[in-house]
Amino acid sequence: MSLDSPWELRRAVELMEKRGFKTVETGGNFALMELRRMRAVVIYPLKDYLQSPSVDDVIKEFMLDRADSIVLVSERPYYLSDELNSAIERANLSGRAIEARVYPVYAGDVDGQLNVTMGIMLANNYDKVGNSDETDGQCPSCGEHMRVVFDNRVADEGEEAREQVLVCKRCGLKIHRIINGAGEAGSLAPILHG
Ligand SMILES: [Zn+2]
Repeated sequence: MSLDSPWELRRAVELMEKRGFKTVETGGNFALMELRRMRAVVIYPLKDYLQSPSVDDVIKEFMLDRADSIVLVSERPYYLSDELNSAIERANLSGRAIEARVYPVYAGDVDGQLNVTMGIMLANNYDKVGNSDETDGQCPSCGEHMRVVFDNRVADEGEEAREQVLVCKRCGLKIHRIINGAGEAGSLAPILHG
């Protein structure tokens, strides 16, 4: 990542690399990253609103057809995120097949928000990052056995830890968790419904 790039973007890339992402391509304000078959583009947008009304321009600028996840790192990411979602809707209504999800990350809290966002991205794309199929415990919602579909070693605040996504194949409940060296669930453990 170029030193001319905004530090928030460089920090985002660094955090994602720590969680196992590889950087595939970089530009002045973006990085295309990959974790197994999941592709994520991290963008530090030049403006916090869309500059062109053309859906094709928007698809190109934000690489909506090249990634599963679009991570917007900005001082004001929420409005742009809404605009991108409606551009995706318009594109799909006119026959495109854009499946990318948009994740806003406030630039003032990259560490906190991106860590949570990465867990959500992994859970949403577990079919693309899956590397495991072990059973582990019961679904808190329906009682079926949960399956660990993603299991990765990561560093959590400098400590060796494991990051996992569990899925219930009956009701679709997904759980993302980080287990620290002592075997306890870490601070980043949101439960997600499918
Ligand atoms: Zn269930």
